[in-house]
Amino acid sequence: MKKYDYYEDVSFLIGKTDKEAILLLKKPSVFKITGKDNSKAVLVSTLIHGHEICGFRAFLKEINSKPEYPLDVYFAVGNVQAAQIEPLFSNRLVPGGQNFNRTWIKEPKTEMEQLSFELFEFYKTLPLVGILDLHSFTATDTLPHGFLPDTKEETLKLANKLANYGFVTDSNLGAMIELTTDIAPSLVIECGTNGSKEADEYAFETLHKFFKLTGVEEGNVEDVNKGVFVNMTNVKIKSAVTVVWADEKQDAQLTIRSDISKLNITEVKAGEFYGWANTLDLFVIKNKDGLQNVEDWFELKDGKVYIKQDVVPNLMSANEKIAKESGFYFFKRWEK
Ligand SMILES: [Zn+2]
Repeated sequence: MKKYDYYEDVSFLIGKTDKEAILLLKKPSVFKITGKDNSKAVLVSTLIHGHEICGFRAFLKEINSKPEYPLDVYFAVGNVQAAQIEPLFSNRLVPGGQNFNRTWIKEPKTEMEQLSFELFEFYKTLPLVGILDLHSFTATDTLPHGFLPDTKEETLKLANKLANYGFVTDSNLGAMIELTTDIAPSLVIECGTNGSKEADEYAFETLHKFFKLTGVEEGNVEDVNKGVFVNMTNVKIKSAVTVVWADEKQDAQLTIRSDISKLNITEVKAGEFYGWANTLDLFVIKNKDGLQNVEDWFELKDGKVYIKQDVVPNLMSANEKIAKESGFYFFKRWEK
């Protein structure tokens, strides 16, 4: 039995609210909307993280307009199980389970890795010309942006028109776009804050820009890119560390300045203040070269922690679970 459901019909979702619609699904689900020309197709992936609802809402809004496409359009609804936990759309992943955007690897072992691989094998059979993966984020004062699996010309061609800022995931995370980039240019757009109206609108706009760029719709799309960033370096706070976000030092091993997410997608200079601690043995830092020396990235002086290099951070947020499970990233501006 397949680990996902496949439908060539979306009519049972028409007129349903997002909550009604998600409860009608049983597994991760792929929907095909058959177009006039079946020699080309695009794929739009949503809800790989169960609380990142904007892509799912864009999908529902889109199918409610009863679209007719010149080529085949596939929509995927990813972590249905996580999204279905009450309150609906509040869980990134099933508690205790795997992050569904870290399981796309060539040698699958776990249940979710096998599911991801099965989906990948199916996507490989489709004449895909583009793959768009819609996400949102926890931070509240961060701009929409994109994640790209590589800096291949065809990836950049799509990214430059869909993402103001493009971050290259060059450290084999196990993300969907990393595995599917061999099929067709594949990228993530992070549309805004989870559950916000702005993210919903951005996701829907992005969907239609993507359609224009891939020939599903007619029209031009402007170039919006302001920078591509590489050398993805993941920073996680160790799970046993007591951490709080505040404007002055608290009774915890690590106090992080409360406005930390303001630094996301800005050019941070070496010496930027980060927080308070008595040791740097609080972080796990990794990039494509493996485990990094914490002292290369942070500096401790008189009980204060500073960022030690010029970096462009992303996905910093005042959220303990995120800071420990997914962490945040330091990037460097890419010079071609
Ligand atoms: Zn996500």
